[in-house]
Amino acid sequence: MSGLVIEKEKCVGCGACVSACPSAALSMEEGLAVVDGAACVLCGVCVDTCPTGAISVEKEEAAGLDPSDWRDVWVFAQWEGEGFHPVTLELLSRGRALADSLEERLCAAAVGCTEADCAPLLDQGADAVYLCPALPAEYRAEPFCAAVLSQLIRAHRPGIVLFGATPFGRSLAPRLAARLGTGLTADCTQLDIDGESRCLRQTRPAFGGNLMATIVCPAHRPQMATVRPGVFPILTAGRRTGAEIVTVEPPVLPPPLTRELAADQAVQAAAGLRGAQVIVSVGRGIGVRKNVKLVERLAELLGAQVGCSRPLVEAGWLSYDHQIGQTGVSVAPKLLITFGISGAIQHLAGIAGAERIIAVNSDPSAPIFAQAHEAVVGDCVEILEEMIKILEKKPN
Ligand SMILES: Cc1cc2nc3c(=O)[nH]c(=O)nc-3n(C[C@H](O)[C@H](O)[C@H](O)COP(=O)(O)OP(=O)(O)OC[C@H]3O[C@@H](n4cnc5c(N)ncnc54)[C@H](O)[C@@H]3O)c2cc1C
Repeated sequence: MSGLVIEKEKCVGCGACVSACPSAALSMEEGLAVVDGAACVLCGVCVDTCPTGAISVEKEEAAGLDPSDWRDVWVFAQWEGEGFHPVTLELLSRGRALADSLEERLCAAAVGCTEADCAPLLDQGADAVYLCPALPAEYRAEPFCAAVLSQLIRAHRPGIVLFGATPFGRSLAPRLAARLGTGLTADCTQLDIDGESRCLRQTRPAFGGNLMATIVCPAHRPQMATVRPGVFPILTAGRRTGAEIVTVEPPVLPPPLTRELAADQAVQAAAGLRGAQVIVSVGRGIGVRKNVKLVERLAELLGAQVGCSRPLVEAGWLSYDHQIGQTGVSVAPKLLITFGISGAIQHLAGIAGAERIIAVNSDPSAPIFAQAHEAVVGDCVEILEEMIKILEKKPN
């Protein structure tokens, strides 16, 4: 296991580490430093602070440096009690393309469900599902899944492991990366294979979203990334010949360090936007608050969901769960119509998955036009009024 190691022989009890620790994980007992493993985040500040070199961070063995030993693309299949989180199928869709490009297998890893529950994973093109059906009641899900997955990854050595950037995935993936001594790129908006090195190219917004960074992990395996729901579309796939479910035994674990006292089911914000086939989205170019009603009316007539850029949320004209972009929702509709949105990089990060974009903007040089499939240069209020007039006249 990874952890903080304090060599008693070297500790002089000066307390420098206790004062330096940002997570209050260190204390003095009988003149020696001791660590609270549950509080320690392995940041390493104490290692640098200790004047006698008594403290070190012990990592699990780095997961091997010969990339050719590590094959296949894996997706963590997030079981939600009654089905898989939709991001699982989105990742399998993208994972299939990555696996095909590497000429490797696509596999899913699932915990806590039955073989019958795994049918959608096979239908989405997985060559194999590694299933650990047991989820002992006394264990919290993330540590248990981390234990199962680290065992599976060591045994099967996948080259790539993908997670949904859901609250669960965001908690699980870093635990696993720390255990395996590998890297993790969070919130990717694009995943590709580098033809020459065969490395996973993991693209994500960086520096406050002002540029897109492409990150590779050449020296450690597996390459791990999280992707927010809605970034990749779910593509039609079929069952592969020979696709199989491999049932695995749960690992033997020490008694849990934590106990779950209560579970609170968080409301899935923006669920409507994420799965929407048609979205009508509005930006600052709409001018005044009352014009937002026009967008809502158009959405009603088209059977669409309403999205928006961040300034409208900041102005209080629409609630946060309508916000599309880097700090909002990522969407992947068949059709997205934008009205008065300029196309800032932080907004574009959320619409990369849209199949068809029609952008309306009065400025012919608006950046949104570079991403749009159809550009309409004009006044968005006039165009909205005209569209509503036409659709209202149309018989149902
Ligand atoms: C860390 C960070 C995260 C961010 N996250 C997000 C995010 O998740 N989502 C997001 O949207 N933004 C986000 N932003 C803000 C982002 O940078 C932009 O400021 C924002 O997207 C701009 O919104 P907009 O296009 O509506 O407004 P503007 O950039 O002001 O554009 C308005 C557009 O309307 C056009 N227009 C004006 N009048 C009319 C008219 N009558 N008819 C037609 N067009 C007209 C203009 O030509 C212009 O192109 C983030 C910023 C940062 C720094």
